Amino acid sequence: MEKTLGIVKPDAVKAGRSGKIIDIIENAGLKIIAMKKISLSKEQAKQFYEVHKDKPFYESLTEFMSSGKIIVMAIEGENAIAKYRQIMGATDPAKAEKGTIRNLYGTNIEHNAVHGSDAPETAKEELAFFFSKYELL
Ligand code: UDP
Ligand code: MG
Repeated sequence: MEKTLGIVKPDAVKAGRSGKIIDIIENAGLKIIAMKKISLSKEQAKQFYEVHKDKPFYESLTEFMSSGKIIVMAIEGENAIAKYRQIMGATDPAKAEKGTIRNLYGTNIEHNAVHGSDAPETAKEELAFFFSKYELL
């Protein structure tokens, strides 16, 4: 069993798509073991996306991620990291495979509806950013 961090981003929360997105995750056989709706400050968003601090989109991305409520989810299942990345689809919704979350609900490469951890080490760090170890049992 593997755990990964998923986020419904402010665009999808505002558009009222979180229920549909949770449905896709559960229909893929993944379990949501912890979940909360929260707001990030600009500083918290910058910390969360620190790995991208030298990218041209860092400022705009962190502004976006702190612009409204998000839903953070601890997702568990066999190969959860890769499986969830697969149902999210490519970063750019225009390139995301048909039926994926980003294909269905993403607007553009920045406002792309969801986040998902990309590897075991980042999943561990990102889960710890939002959840205590007791919440992840
Ligand atoms: N992003 C962006 N412009 C880009 C690439 C990425 O605004 O050219 C945003 C987008 O919201 C993406 C996030 O930055 O989800 C993190 O980028 P990453 O390359 O890690 O993509 P992901 O892992 O989310 O598919
Ligand atoms: Mg990434």
